[in-house]
Amino acid sequence: MTGNDILYLVIPCYNEEAVLRETAKQLLAKMNSMFERGMISRESKIMFVNDGSKDKTWEIIEELHASNPIYSGVKLSRNKGHQNALLAGLMTAKEKADITISLDADLQDDVDVIDQMVEKYQEGNDIVYGVRSARTTDTFFKKFTAQGFYKLMQAMGVEIVYNHADYRLMSKRALEGLAEFKEVNLFLRGIVPLIGYKSDTVTYERHERFAGESKYPLKKMLAFATDGITSFSIKPIRLITAFGILIFAISILMLLYSLVVHFMGKTVAGWTSMIISIWAIGGLQLLAIGIVGEYIGKIYLETKERPKYIIETVLDE
Ligand code: UDP
Ligand code: MG
Repeated sequence: MTGNDILYLVIPCYNEEAVLRETAKQLLAKMNSMFERGMISRESKIMFVNDGSKDKTWEIIEELHASNPIYSGVKLSRNKGHQNALLAGLMTAKEKADITISLDADLQDDVDVIDQMVEKYQEGNDIVYGVRSARTTDTFFKKFTAQGFYKLMQAMGVEIVYNHADYRLMSKRALEGLAEFKEVNLFLRGIVPLIGYKSDTVTYERHERFAGESKYPLKKMLAFATDGITSFSIKPIRLITAFGILIFAISILMLLYSLVVHFMGKTVAGWTSMIISIWAIGGLQLLAIGIVGEYIGKIYLETKERPKYIIETVLDE
């Protein structure tokens, strides 16, 4: 493992026209400095994955590619979401790269730790996780929801790296491992630790998005968290089962109680407790059905074995 390794930076982009040129400029400077120090091969690339953007993102990528072949582009046929776009980029890069680093188009992930990631790779790590040291630039809401997310995932038994998003280095063989995961419900953060191999972390401070707005509104974040949990853990089902047993035990007590009240001749008194239990059990059943349904929905999607993405064009070379 020497400075002859080909590095591909993989950047998913959805409606990023406001940041793309600046991002490209900063990443190019970073690549050039690594070339000069002989850290990586000059065949390394900066690969943008256009995730069905509705703005000028793809035009800018084409323009960048024409100006300098270090910039390469992958265009998905439509918007498939961050995780699928990232996978599309990684799987395309895998063919030529020895190392890939995935990062966001808005440069919230500190570009300066790329060197450290590559060094850790050269020390023999196959996966290097970028871990955020502070959340000082986030809004209270983002901080609160993000931390709640990690806590919930851990409580649900999903093995994820705390405060690590999708800023990570992966070697060719780690990517080959990733390719073996055939699931449609894709949650990379949960899958990558399952690949194995030696891994390490680097810490960085996350910056503010310098232009454009977040492509992760609350609705997408909630969908992402739900996906993360239901794709990896059956704890919610177990929880419901435990709850069901508890409710059943209570209902036996209620039965004894109502019988006692009945034989004491105070029959009308049972109405309140009955109506409450009807509502409680009805609600719980609905909840249980909903959760079971979530899993059945996932099984349904998995059995279809739909392609996770379709690539329209590849700009490379
Ligand atoms: N992104 C994408 N497809 C989507 C949504 C987002 O490829 O449907 C990309 C986006 O362009 C960015 C990255 O995913 O490069 C992270 O998105 P964003 O910065 O908006 O998320 P946040 O940092 O607010 O969590
Ligand atoms: Mg961002």
